[in-house]
Amino acid sequence: VRFKGVDEMTREEDGRSGAAEIKRVLVIGAGAAGLAAAVELAREGHDVVVYEKSSEIGGVWNYTPDADSDPLSIDPQRKRVHSSMYASLRTNLPRELMGFLDFPFLAKEGRDKRRYPGYEEVNSYLRDFAEHHDLLSLIEFGVEVENVRLKKAGNGNSASESRDLKWIVRSNRFGKFNHEPQTKEDVFDAVVICNGHYAEPKLINIPGVESWPGFQMHSHNYRVPESFQDKIIVIIGNANSGGDISKELAEVAKEVHVCGRRWPETAQIKQQGNIWLHPLVERACEDGTVKFQDGKSTRADVILHCTGYLYSFPFLDTEGVVTVKDGRIDPLYKHVFVPAFGPTLSFVGLPQKIVPFPLFQAQSKWISKLLSGKVKLPSESTMMSDLKQFYDELEANGITTYNTHTMFKRDQFVYCDWILEQCGAQPLDSWREAIYFSAHANKGTSTNYRDDWKDQDLLDTATKSLVELSE
Ligand code: FAD
Repeated sequence: VRFKGVDEMTREEDGRSGAAEIKRVLVIGAGAAGLAAAVELAREGHDVVVYEKSSEIGGVWNYTPDADSDPLSIDPQRKRVHSSMYASLRTNLPRELMGFLDFPFLAKEGRDKRRYPGYEEVNSYLRDFAEHHDLLSLIEFGVEVENVRLKKAGNGNSASESRDLKWIVRSNRFGKFNHEPQTKEDVFDAVVICNGHYAEPKLINIPGVESWPGFQMHSHNYRVPESFQDKIIVIIGNANSGGDISKELAEVAKEVHVCGRRWPETAQIKQQGNIWLHPLVERACEDGTVKFQDGKSTRADVILHCTGYLYSFPFLDTEGVVTVKDGRIDPLYKHVFVPAFGPTLSFVGLPQKIVPFPLFQAQSKWISKLLSGKVKLPSESTMMSDLKQFYDELEANGITTYNTHTMFKRDQFVYCDWILEQCGAQPLDSWREAIYFSAHANKGTSTNYRDDWKDQDLLDTATKSLVELSE
């Protein structure tokens, strides 16, 4: 358990003060993380505003048939589209698990009632959540944050006490009628970063691909299968997107060759029909061939990169205090706070391989209570030594830097409960962890995990508890 030992340390230093302070807080982004942050900050009495660059809430769940103007998303000048949803997408987690802690994601009459619903249902749920909590009035749409920097203290140095820190935020406002955005600067006591991490595609290097004559695309820009009719497609990556898209493309394509670093028994994709499984690509050749590391090769029309995404905070200017390298955002205490800035700068939603919405809400509760002074962070040096211990543990366990924010096995449940405990809140209901693992096991064994499951008893327990909560 990665967080063991820190509990005692934090409690000792964490004397809860009764005094509640109201802070002026900016939340960047109105996706699920930004909505969770806005609710918890408002509940705590803070003065909250959310800047959202698009005209909608929901972030990635806003499907659009549009895609980046560069199908590989390399060109920095490309027209960008935030959402990575494809038209057929259904959730990869069951809905009872996905919902926020106190706003159950229950099936509704006249809507998509499936246990693993389509993206539209998730988007509707997020809209229900925002409306129920009256969040729309807190959100300024069409406002893109361009720069976030520390307000210097009078002597030119950044304030040494995090309680005195303030942040200057420059934003571009895209009105309905003005072609050029208007720029505005504003000062906040705290900034909560919720800009998502599924919009900046990550690519792997394929030797020879520059002279390979076929078409390349990242899954961020994949929407529908039609244009892949009768093609020979190489898909790189066998995680969620790679799994779903390869099965969908196999229906229309001539051949689908899926490459994965590892192929466990429980992999979702099986070698069958026109689907072939391979290790990674060794090289792509001028004559249109793609060679795999197992010595096999195929002529291919398309290489589709389902290789994940990069963390990116293009607006954040901490003068080098925070770095983003090889998938690690450093230094971050518990994946949320930069020790030097205390609770005034926070990130919601960075952990990977998690159940996102409940974790976003737990992190947001913690941020809100820290900002109001009801709970306290350990000292900067204690947070830094905790982080060092965490990095040492990752290394000792052979976990790469790239997986710094990935939560394995039970980590996310231990993490959420630890955070909830900091806030004086109830731990997660035990059915959450049980369903997470039963759903995971089912995904590895069933070819149709979204419509065929064996944990009906757990589902019944969860539904009963969620229905009670919603009454
Ligand atoms: P986002 O939803 O990306 O929201 C970020 C928001 O910030 C956006 O609205 C964006 O416009 C805004 N923004 C960004 N930069 C700025 C800026 N500079 N200024 C102002 N606004 C800005 N999760 C699940 O729970 N279940 C699933 O089944 C599931 N499937 C997924 C499938 C795919 C293909 C992908 C990509 C993700 C999936 N996820 C799933 C994970 C999903 O990303 C999270 O559930 C969650 O929606 C992320 O929310 P977020 O608020 O962190 O980010």
